[in-house]
Amino acid sequence: MLDALKKAFGGSDETHSPSGKKGDISREKSAELYEKARQYFPGGVNSPVRAFKSVHGTPLFIERGDGCFLWDADGNQFIDFCCSWGPLILGHNHPKIREKVTKALEKGLSFGAPTALENELAELILKHNKYIDKLRFVSSGTEAVMSAIRLARGYTGRDKIIKFEGCYHGHSDSLLVKAGSGLVTFGETSSAGVPKAFADETIVIPLNDKQAVHAAFSQFQGKIAAIIIEGVPANNGLLIQDHDYIHFLRSITKENGSLLIFDEVITGFRLGFEGAAAYYDVHPDIITYGKIIGGGMPVGAYGASAELMSHISPDGGVYQAGTLSGNPVAMAAGIAQLTELKGSGFYKNLNQKTFQFVEAIQRYATAKNYKVWIFNIGSIFWFAFTDKEAIRTAGDIDHNSMEYYKVFHRELLNRGVYLGPSGYEVGFVSAAHNKTELEKAKRAVFESLDEVFRHK
Ligand SMILES: *Cc1c(COP(=O)(O)O)cnc(C)c1O
Repeated sequence: MLDALKKAFGGSDETHSPSGKKGDISREKSAELYEKARQYFPGGVNSPVRAFKSVHGTPLFIERGDGCFLWDADGNQFIDFCCSWGPLILGHNHPKIREKVTKALEKGLSFGAPTALENELAELILKHNKYIDKLRFVSSGTEAVMSAIRLARGYTGRDKIIKFEGCYHGHSDSLLVKAGSGLVTFGETSSAGVPKAFADETIVIPLNDKQAVHAAFSQFQGKIAAIIIEGVPANNGLLIQDHDYIHFLRSITKENGSLLIFDEVITGFRLGFEGAAAYYDVHPDIITYGKIIGGGMPVGAYGASAELMSHISPDGGVYQAGTLSGNPVAMAAGIAQLTELKGSGFYKNLNQKTFQFVEAIQRYATAKNYKVWIFNIGSIFWFAFTDKEAIRTAGDIDHNSMEYYKVFHRELLNRGVYLGPSGYEVGFVSAAHNKTELEKAKRAVFESLDEVFRHK
């Protein structure tokens, strides 16, 4: 089907009929690379969502990025709103990051011993973050969260954790758990290979439901080590929670001697330098970071009070380690990126331009009576093909609406705009998205929405 279309349109990006219909971009080179990749990797990829299973066509193989632009192997250019799933808040190939990384790598790639760069990044973070006193660097968000959970269990001497349906916390065993049936249940594993005994320690409840939290605490009194929640749930749509609900989680955990873990792998350094903790003005016990913290390199971190962190080895009995933890090249990228974020007005500008972008699209969609809402917080946005004005739980998402996203995604690619290849994923605006490009992207979105709703 794709091949036929490709031939019919000759792969030209410029095919443009009066109706605004665009031909499909050429994916010949990407398709070739994907064929090869399928011989090497399960599904042809090293992380599942990259396989384009929920959208049209072959996954695009990326050749390079610069600013807000991406180029694929066929030479197609895109304005990128995926931004490597969030880390690239300054856009691709930022000169300051490139410079700092180059300097670091001239001195060697890894030592497995402390370096001054680790201090530099830690100081930059801790000096400007009133929620944590100490932190530990790891190499991914998954590791950060896995370690935070271990710390919570080690500290409280309890095994059970509460997580919310629709929140993603990486792929460690305890957290690959989805809701079972009923309001308060033990979770069911959401992946083969996760022992049932692990899932039994994870209680999964719906977001935005105080009753469910009360019920869990009364059913498992004295057994719950922690509640973990994404700063703003942004891995299964954008499920923005009320201030009141977040503060409720803070007080109920305190009352029950449990910890509150904020998974800020997306929201950390995104909603503001101090992330969702500052946004909600709430003080979690442990905070995890990832994505932005490494400036595009593999870095994660978890942090807490000095007292809590004293339980981590070698100071305390909770073991956690990493051969490449605090890697100097990765630290350099993080330092360069976070330094830019400290610039005055950085977040105000970024959030404002995101809001204006989203608002213009919403206005257009509403005027045309299109059934789509664009949810937005800070520089994060999410297209929901729904008529619901508020979506706060995983259960609020209409799975059939993903068919709209599928068409939308292809139409956008054909117009030079790259969004994450799944309707459950959010988009990100970076500092590199300037007025001209956002204007172009907006037009592409208008036309693509027209195509999506053409037959409605
Ligand atoms: C991406 C993400 C993770 C996992 O991070 P990886 O670096 O992919 O392991 C964990 N939690 C949240 C909230 C995330 O968005």
